[in-house]
Amino acid sequence: MDICCGLTMVARLENVYSEGGVLIQDVPLLVCPTCRRSQISPDILFDYQMYAYYCETDGARSGSLSKAIGEEKILHQLEKYPEDIRIQQKIRVIPEQIDNTLDLMNLADLIGDDRWHQELVDRITHFSRWIHYQND
Ligand SMILES: [Zn+2]
Repeated sequence: MDICCGLTMVARLENVYSEGGVLIQDVPLLVCPTCRRSQISPDILFDYQMYAYYCETDGARSGSLSKAIGEEKILHQLEKYPEDIRIQQKIRVIPEQIDNTLDLMNLADLIGDDRWHQELVDRITHFSRWIHYQND
């Protein structure tokens, strides 16, 4: 899943601690500029897990994912999920997200999906809270 809060997430390189406590550098994370949720990019998740496992069994304390799987693969993630207007303008919510959510709410009403409707109401509530906050 690379969509969050109604828009595609944005890739960012971060250093991540593996479950076994190894510091893995240059890991492409997908970040949602709106709610700040982040996850390791699904495309390289397997590579990351294999490399983390390798480092852990090797007793390494840190390692560079870009050295292990190649810069090319890492750069491809940054290109696939480029910075969007929310990052460039340092805003957390753009009008398009609100419009789309309202459209979806109409659709949820139309098909009588109360649970979905409630999820969308929650999303709008969060948006209205975040709309005044800047991204840093
Ligand atoms: Zn989000």
